[in-house]
Amino acid sequence: MKSLGSIRRDFAPWNDPNAKPYIQFDKVTKKFGDFTAVNNLSLTIFEREFFALLGASGCGKSTLLRMLAGFEEPTAGRILLDGQDLRGIPPYRRPVNMMFQSYALFPHMTVENNIAFGLKQDGMPKPEIAARVGEMLKLVKLEQFAKRKPHQLSGGQRQRVALARSVAKRPKVLLLDEPLGALDKKLREETQFELMDLQQSLGLTFVVVTHDQEEAMTMADRIAIIDKGEVMQVATPAEVYEAPGSRFVAGFVGNVNMFEGKIAHGEAGAASIDAGNGITIRTENTGDAATGAAVAFAIRPEKIKISSTRPAGAVNAIEGEVYDIAYLGDMTVYHVRLDDGQVVRASTMNAARITEDPLSWNDRAWVSFRPDAGVVLTR
Ligand code: ATP
Repeated sequence: MKSLGSIRRDFAPWNDPNAKPYIQFDKVTKKFGDFTAVNNLSLTIFEREFFALLGASGCGKSTLLRMLAGFEEPTAGRILLDGQDLRGIPPYRRPVNMMFQSYALFPHMTVENNIAFGLKQDGMPKPEIAARVGEMLKLVKLEQFAKRKPHQLSGGQRQRVALARSVAKRPKVLLLDEPLGALDKKLREETQFELMDLQQSLGLTFVVVTHDQEEAMTMADRIAIIDKGEVMQVATPAEVYEAPGSRFVAGFVGNVNMFEGKIAHGEAGAASIDAGNGITIRTENTGDAATGAAVAFAIRPEKIKISSTRPAGAVNAIEGEVYDIAYLGDMTVYHVRLDDGQVVRASTMNAARITEDPLSWNDRAWVSFRPDAGVVLTR
């Protein structure tokens, strides 16, 4: 079987200037009284995309989803689906379905009746309903649970019933609000892959709301990072991680070390940053920062090497003291306090069972990194 990664590698309509957007938020604002939940926000989502809205609690991501579903109307701006302005179109007439965090299954109905509910309401003929429900049960691998009631199922199974029910009517777009929130970590990971497979096999557009960055990183083609009702960055998971556009995004996704400083000397594609207290950082990724600009140099812990002596030939090496070590099984994270008090995190993969020359608490140590290992952020 081809892995999802290789299937999706060619999927990048956002890079194609001729690709037609499928869902468009066009300068959308939503106010509740005098509180602005969504602020003049524009976003474009493509057909068959797995799109994630990622942000902290209260940032406005569910409000975006609810406006797309038609449960709320924007205070200003437009939402277009396939070129059509959705204003005034009631939820049930939009080619969109929403799966809620709570799943909202009917407790007194069997699994198959839960899945059939919307189809019956639409007046679909009985034999067709039976066929569609059978197809959905197979899709989510719950054939043998058709006659059970929701309380006779595990959390993961209930989640799959909710999914089957929300795709039974074959919506073009499925909106998922924290779809895996009620599952434990292991089940959540498995279900992430099931969701990706389902989206692929049905050819649907998925818009998922989550506050879990790992979930967004695993599943989505692109992620919009939302803060206080505004889009901070829209990019692929790899871009968000490796090329964050701001301090906020760098800090929000994954762990990061941040050195604040000024560009001391800049030339095309390279610069030194004066990070104070005698620390100078040489970097090749200067972005659009000019000499004298106040910047942050952001670098991920796994891109920092830690050693007991200064590595020969290292362009960037700073001395400090190991003050904390977190052993996580697959990797170890060292917290190194530099002489100016700043703490730098460096992580190493534990590929071998036993490490030679292990570093210990209170040891002097060097953290070092290549000039292309971090990014310079001006925002
Ligand atoms: P969570 O992850 O906690 O669900 P969220 O990012 O989805 O958060 P929203 O539900 O979109 O957040 O809410 C955004 C902001 O708008 C919040 O501050 C919330 O209190 C406010 N809000 C949402 N709905 C209403 C409403 N009907 N009336 C007043 N304020 C609202």
